[in-house]
Amino acid sequence: MNESILSKRLKTIAGFLPNQANFVDIGSDHAYLPCFVCTKDKGATAIAGEINEGPYLSAKKNVADFHLTDQIQVIKGDGLEVINDQDIDQVVIAGMGGTLIRSILMRGQERIRNVKRIIAQPNVDAHAVREWFYENGYCLVAEEIIKEDGHIYEILVADKGDATIPYEGMRLESSLLFGPYLLKEKNAVFQEKWYGEREKLERVIKQMHQAKDVNFEKIQLFQHEIEMIEEVLTYD
Ligand code: SAM
Repeated sequence: MNESILSKRLKTIAGFLPNQANFVDIGSDHAYLPCFVCTKDKGATAIAGEINEGPYLSAKKNVADFHLTDQIQVIKGDGLEVINDQDIDQVVIAGMGGTLIRSILMRGQERIRNVKRIIAQPNVDAHAVREWFYENGYCLVAEEIIKEDGHIYEILVADKGDATIPYEGMRLESSLLFGPYLLKEKNAVFQEKWYGEREKLERVIKQMHQAKDVNFEKIQLFQHEIEMIEEVLTYD
């Protein structure tokens, strides 16, 4: 498979898989990620899981076209139910909302008892995934924030282990929201993301004040988030 097909986002995710990975890619769509990894590493194997017929067929075709059927199984199914008795060491769930990723992990928890690493790339609501890791014994070991084609993406990597370690000495509420590693670095992409989020929240609050029944409780929650963002953007 030609490396140029793969986005910077998926290449970054691939970089967090070890050599000879045995991984499942949930919501694989075209199966680009498993095709890329298995072309480069002949010792790697993967399951490409897809719930929808169109992407499932597209994944099947690509795996066949790249002559990777001995390394990649394409299975149609909902979330982690595509894992049965296969040896799986890593799970990738990318390109979905954080709450959907959390719900996939929650519903399939029993099937990933032996999994060593989870790599998640939530398009929004990354905090929902961090919270799930924190509550379920997965220790966040790395985070990346990248910008590609005008979109900002967060990539979270967690290994089985003591989930409290990355949050030691930090305020839990804000480090779950911003990400403990991203918060320490506060790079330019991080700042761009959170300036944008603050603007979005301010716009929403303004609109909410114009509604017939003003939801003050929700406004207060958003206001609190704005305060947290301002604190993070103001102080080193
Ligand atoms: N993972 C790829 C990536 O990051 O480029 C594709 C992301 S695409 C936006 C999301 C894919 O997830 C779609 O192909 C969709 O059909 C699939 N999907 C959504 N919910 C799913 C579920 N519960 N189980 C499996 N696949 C799912």
